Amino acid sequence: MIIKEVEKILPLVQKPGRYTGGELNSIIKDKNAVKLRYAFCFPDSYEIGMSHLGIKILYSAANERDDVWCERVFAPWHDMEKEMRERHLPLYALESGDPLSDFDLIGFTLQYELCYTNVLNMLDLAGLPIRAADRRDLTPIVVGGGPCVCNPEPMADFFDMFMIGEGEEMQNEVFDLLIECKEKGKSKQEFLALAAQIKGVYVPSFYDVEYNDDLTVKSVTATHGAPEKVTKRVISDLDKVHYPEKFIVPFVEVVHDRVVHEILRGCIRGCRFCQAGFTYRPIREKSADTVNDQCMKLCHSTGYDEISLSSLSTSDYTHLEELMEKLLSWTEKERVNIALPSLRVDNFSEKLMGYLNRVRRSGLTFAPEAGTQRLRDAINKNVTEEEMLTTARQAFSGGWTAVKLYFMLGLPTETYDDVAGIAELAQKVVGEFYTNPDRPKGKGVQVSISVASFVPKPFTPFQWEAQNSLDELIKKQEHLLSSVKTRKISVSYHNVNISFLEGILARGDRRLCAAVEYAWRHGCKFDSWDDSFHFETWLEGFEKLGIDPEFYTCRKRDFEEILPWDHLDYGIRKQFLIDENQKAYRSETTPHCRIQCAGCGSNKLNGGKCDAMCKNMV
Ligand code: SF4
Repeated sequence: MIIKEVEKILPLVQKPGRYTGGELNSIIKDKNAVKLRYAFCFPDSYEIGMSHLGIKILYSAANERDDVWCERVFAPWHDMEKEMRERHLPLYALESGDPLSDFDLIGFTLQYELCYTNVLNMLDLAGLPIRAADRRDLTPIVVGGGPCVCNPEPMADFFDMFMIGEGEEMQNEVFDLLIECKEKGKSKQEFLALAAQIKGVYVPSFYDVEYNDDLTVKSVTATHGAPEKVTKRVISDLDKVHYPEKFIVPFVEVVHDRVVHEILRGCIRGCRFCQAGFTYRPIREKSADTVNDQCMKLCHSTGYDEISLSSLSTSDYTHLEELMEKLLSWTEKERVNIALPSLRVDNFSEKLMGYLNRVRRSGLTFAPEAGTQRLRDAINKNVTEEEMLTTARQAFSGGWTAVKLYFMLGLPTETYDDVAGIAELAQKVVGEFYTNPDRPKGKGVQVSISVASFVPKPFTPFQWEAQNSLDELIKKQEHLLSSVKTRKISVSYHNVNISFLEGILARGDRRLCAAVEYAWRHGCKFDSWDDSFHFETWLEGFEKLGIDPEFYTCRKRDFEEILPWDHLDYGIRKQFLIDENQKAYRSETTPHCRIQCAGCGSNKLNGGKCDAMCKNMV
């Protein structure tokens, strides 16, 4: 039993609670009584993985079945991995302590591109071949899911299949098929050919990719009877789909140590840089009763004293006031706090401010993204400077003294005036504080600017755009810093090298599989952690493999070019994305979906239904 060996290591590593299992609400079953064993892997550390809502939902949904046992696996930190490799201990699942090679299905959620080397490292630590072609038996099948599978091509060689879209219903169909194939002694190829017929399942080995001399994609051809296009799955009714009544309570403090509760999927806004804003469409909301009931059950089964209402744009949830009334009717008595992340400046009502004053105060964060109105219109942020300043004024009158503002550098059409505009807007927010007679007395204001680098992503209007080069980004960062004239404003940046690598992998093709493998074989893992990130090793790999990274990042694509992800269908019409792209160059906005349906096409994935509740659906 591996756990006996692991116990000897625990005193030697940081945060041993990451590796023990046995937490409250973790699910234990008799492995001989189930027909399928599913190892759900999060390719990052325990603290990150245990904060992820998706793994909680799918773990609970899978374990609802008596014939399936789903167990959790996280990437061991550097110190633990070293000890495991020295003792030839394979990667194991937390619930049973059994090695991954004992499982029928191994799933990886791909939340961000910088976790890719961890996937290879975990397969290797499990003693499994990293390439799908080298795993010949029916089990284990290695499957991928999550936001990054809207372009899984840079990881295609390592996965047997991908689940495109929402997994609650789709995973059951995959479980049923794998159980049947095991019972009938089918081969892996036979299983994959059948799996490719399940809506939303993408078997990359059944698609042949050819390239033009200029290195762009020439064609993607389906084989083995696989569909020409793989269409993502969506859950039609969020009030009816399975949702956990219990969350596992971790032994180690995790990033989100609270009840994180999903209130809606999709977003009505259509910001042209935002991938999630398009790939999670169409809009679907839960009723306030459902949310309230589920939150109560989760607080009572975990003991958590905080609820975070999560979505892409919480203040756009149409039942927010009704929900707040329902929640506050029991949370205040039970001393449970409510956090309302991702509020927009343009619908920050007095009523909402009232609710915020009744819950434990947290920092105020807004995301104008761009410093000037012209650029905010180009990215379709639909926020005016006056709305920004009005909300800041309300917040300062309400007693707030700190505001965090999120911006991006490198956006399409951006000029150096737009960059300086970031500092000017922040300065105006500072001005709002000192001209506000109701501001907290005897206190100063702190405005912190957090600046990310724009990374063009698939299935957005900006999927054809060139990403800024490293030099351009650094020059713009320097220009921004020199534009800030007061200490009341602090500026922090994301690591541009990490954004550059993210950009390569986000719009990459299958030729990058070799680069991911090279990086891993030369020690890269935990790439999303600054102190573990070895950019030079990645660059060395690209060079050795004859790959020009700027082909993927700094190159503008024609609208006619075949994109590596064009054989996947996320419901968003390509012409809609092209129209939105061209509007950006005219700094023309598109009204949000509650005002007018823009005809993105995603409602067709849900029988024409979309909860945006706009006046005329296209
Ligand atoms: S179908 Fe229309 S209303 Fe729904 S998300 Fe798309 S554009 Fe918005």
